[in-house]
Amino acid sequence: MIKRDNWIGGAWSPASTGETREVRNPSDWDDVLGEVAASTPSDVARAVQAAHDAFKGWARMPGPARARVLSKAAKILASRLEEVAQLLSREQGKPIGEARGETQRGVDLLEYYAGEGWRSTGDVIPSAAPDTLMFTTREPLGVVGVITPWNFPLAIPLWKACPALIYGNTVVLKPAGDAPLTALVLPEIFEEAGMPAGVFNVVTGSGAALGDALVTHEHVKGVTFTGSNNVGAHIAKLASARGIKYQLEMGGKNAAIVLKDADLDQAADIVISGAMRFAGQKCTATSRAIVESEVLEAFTAKVVERAEALKIRHATDDEAYLGPVVNRSQQESVLSYIEIGKAEGQLVCGGGRPTGEAYEKGFFVQPTVFTGVRPDARIAQEEIFGPVLALIPANGVEEAIEIANGVQYGLSCSLFTKDLNAALKYIRDIEVGMVRVNAETAGVELQAPFGGYKASSSNSREQGRAAIEFFTQIKTVTIAQAGGN
Ligand code: NDP
Repeated sequence: MIKRDNWIGGAWSPASTGETREVRNPSDWDDVLGEVAASTPSDVARAVQAAHDAFKGWARMPGPARARVLSKAAKILASRLEEVAQLLSREQGKPIGEARGETQRGVDLLEYYAGEGWRSTGDVIPSAAPDTLMFTTREPLGVVGVITPWNFPLAIPLWKACPALIYGNTVVLKPAGDAPLTALVLPEIFEEAGMPAGVFNVVTGSGAALGDALVTHEHVKGVTFTGSNNVGAHIAKLASARGIKYQLEMGGKNAAIVLKDADLDQAADIVISGAMRFAGQKCTATSRAIVESEVLEAFTAKVVERAEALKIRHATDDEAYLGPVVNRSQQESVLSYIEIGKAEGQLVCGGGRPTGEAYEKGFFVQPTVFTGVRPDARIAQEEIFGPVLALIPANGVEEAIEIANGVQYGLSCSLFTKDLNAALKYIRDIEVGMVRVNAETAGVELQAPFGGYKASSSNSREQGRAAIEFFTQIKTVTIAQAGGN
C-alpha cells in the first residue's frame, strides 16, 4: 500500500490533523491502493507560503536554467513510464493502453515546455521618440493555484504546471480526490530533476474543503482549474472578487456531424472511439452524432456493430477498450441518464451495467447508443461523462450545424464529409474552440491551443504557446537616452 503525505517546501508533510483518506481501484473496489493526506485550509496556507518564499529565486533563474530542470524531469518520467501508467490505470480506471499514452503525453509536455525556456518572451516595438528603445517583457504572476480533475490525473496537472513553472511561477497543486497518487509522483520527479524546494507543492484532500483557502490566499496570484461548471463558476466569483487571474476549462457536449457523402465506416470508427474510449470521460468525448437523415439507419447499424464488439475489462487488462467509470456516484449518474434516454430515444445498444463476476466489484457501464434522439432531449443537451452516444437526425449541413450549436457548451466538434464547401461553411459557423474535420472530437495535440467557446471555458486557452498568455503578465519598457550625443 502506498502512503503519501503532502509535498510542501521540498518535504513530505502530513495533514495538520494527521488524517488520511483511502484511495481505491474503480475496477475492483476491494483493492485499496493507498492513502493520502486529508488536508485542511491550514495545510494549504503552509503550501502557499512555501511557494511564495520560493518565488523570487525561481523567477530570477534564467529561462534556460528552468528549462534544464523540466528537460531532466521529462527523462526521469520517461524512465518510469510503465510504473506510472500502471498506477494511473489502477487508481483511476483508465485502460492501460491509454494510461501509457497519457504518461507519454506527460513526458512530451515536459519536453515541450522545457523548450519554451529558451524562446523569446517579448517584442521590440518602434518608439515614436528618437534614440528610444521600447520593448515588452513577460513576467510570471507569482504563486499559481492549480486545481485538477480525475480524468487526466497526470497530463492535466502537467499541462497546467509546466507552463506555470517555465515562465517563472511557483505552484500549489490540489489534485482530484479520486486520483491523487498519480499526481504525487510529480514531486519525486521534480526533486530528482533538481527543482528548488517550494517551487512545486502538492496538497491533497477535499476540493470543497480546500478550494476557497487556495483561491482566496493573499499570495495566490492566479488560479487554473479544470472540472465541472458549478465549481468553475464558484472559483471565478472568488478570483474576480480578488482581482486575480483565473482560467477555467469545464464541460462539453461535443457533436460529430455525419453528412451523407461521408465515408461511413471511417466516421463510425472515429465516432465510437470518441464516444466510448475511456468510457466517455473526456471533456472532448463525442456524446452526440448528428447524422443526415438519408444515412441515419446505415450509420446507426455501423455504430451498433462496433459498440457491441468493444471489450469491457478491468483497466489494467491489456485488452481493455473500456474500463470502469471513476466512482460509484459517477456510475449512478451515468446509469440515471441511460434511464432518462430510454424515454427520450430508441435504445439500440447497451443500456445498463455489464453482468458477470468480473464486473461485480467495479463501476462498469455498458457502451450505450440511442438513436432517433431529439436535439432538445436531456441526453442531447446535458454532459453525461459516460459511454453514452445519442444519434440525432438532421436535414442538411445547415440544420446539423444549428443542432450542434444548440447547447450551452462549445468545446469540440467534428464534421465527416468529402465536401469542401460544407467543411468551409462548418468551420465558419460552428461555435466551438476545437474544430475537427474527419477527425475525432477528442485527441487534441499539446502544441496547439486548447479550450472552448461558451460555457466550456473562461475565454482563455491552455497548451501550446497560448499558455504564455495566462501564466505571464506583460511589462512594457521604454528606455530613452540620458542627455544626448
Ligand atoms: P469537480 O469540478 O467537482 O472537481 C474538479 C476539481 O475541483 C477536483 O480537484 C475537486 O476536488 C475540486 N473541487 C471540488 N469542489 C471545489 C471547490 N468548492 N473549490 C475548489 N475546488 C473544488 O468535478 P468532479 O470531479 O466532481 O466531476 C463532476 C463533473 O464535472 C463530471 O461528471 C463532468 O461532467 C465534469 N468534469 C469535467 C472535466 C473536464 O475535463 N472538463 C473533468 C472532470 C469532471 P475533489 O476531487 O477533492 O472534489
